[in-house]
Amino acid sequence: MQEILNEIAEFMSENTDRGKVADYIPELATINPNQFGISVALPNGQVFSAGCAQQLFSIQSISKVFSLTLALGKIGDRVWTKVGREPSGDPFNSIVQLEHEHGKPRNPFINAGAIAIVDAIMMGHEPKESLAEILQFVRYIANDDSVGIDEKVAMSELASGHRNSSLAHFMASFNRIEHQIDKLLGVYYHQCSISMSCEQLAKSGLFLVSDGVNQSTGSRVVSSHRARRINSLMMMCGHYDGSGEFAFRVGLPGKSGVGGGILAIAPGKASIAVWSPGLDKIGNSKLGTLALEMLVQRTGWSVF
Ligand code: GLU
Repeated sequence: MQEILNEIAEFMSENTDRGKVADYIPELATINPNQFGISVALPNGQVFSAGCAQQLFSIQSISKVFSLTLALGKIGDRVWTKVGREPSGDPFNSIVQLEHEHGKPRNPFINAGAIAIVDAIMMGHEPKESLAEILQFVRYIANDDSVGIDEKVAMSELASGHRNSSLAHFMASFNRIEHQIDKLLGVYYHQCSISMSCEQLAKSGLFLVSDGVNQSTGSRVVSSHRARRINSLMMMCGHYDGSGEFAFRVGLPGKSGVGGGILAIAPGKASIAVWSPGLDKIGNSKLGTLALEMLVQRTGWSVF
């Protein structure tokens, strides 16, 4: 495994076609695109890494897997009255579908869906309490209390978040939002601004590898039934309107973020995190996707 990862990291360091860093969030526009990291965490607790796998980055939409897991734990299947579970086929921040579908987001991983999930998590709590709960949960599944939030990124999102405000107000016009929108978005932006390294992120996905149990710590996070469902959503919706392409090329449940990270799950085998800040046109990490494609070719880990 170490040899495979070294080869992939070496290949990526020479690659000049790295995509473009997200610039609609000014703070992310400052990230050096010439970085690449990869980590593979195995259920037995071993972690293999190459490149800058200890470098912290903004996990952005990858956090939506964790907030969905938390919301399912709090309100169970009532989550599905708030969001659907179909791929959207539209960009991550699109508003058009919401109008046709009366303010109910297609799935929990597009921005509108993730905002609705945060609304469910808040359930009358103060923003600080909800945020603390989300962060605590991420620390628990990563088995790492040092995981934190990049306040600068959160502030940068807040200052440039007209599109997300529009999505939230639009949903509210259908009576689908229960909390004050500035408070709701405050929690959402801070959740997206959680910073993790590839190593931390790979470890945090271990509960999805082994039917809901993080075998390296022995803790059950969700039921096996729920782990399967979360994986299926990652497969179908985890890369926005690039989800089909990701399934075609990589063939694993995965979730990307505009910070350039991807968390991918090889059920029964490994949790994999890659990071390279340059994105393709859809907003998924260009080299991250390529790295996962190479890894799966070498290991045969595709679920197909
Ligand atoms: N915080 C980002 C936003 O709301 C998340 C987008 C992403 O990672 O896809 O625009």
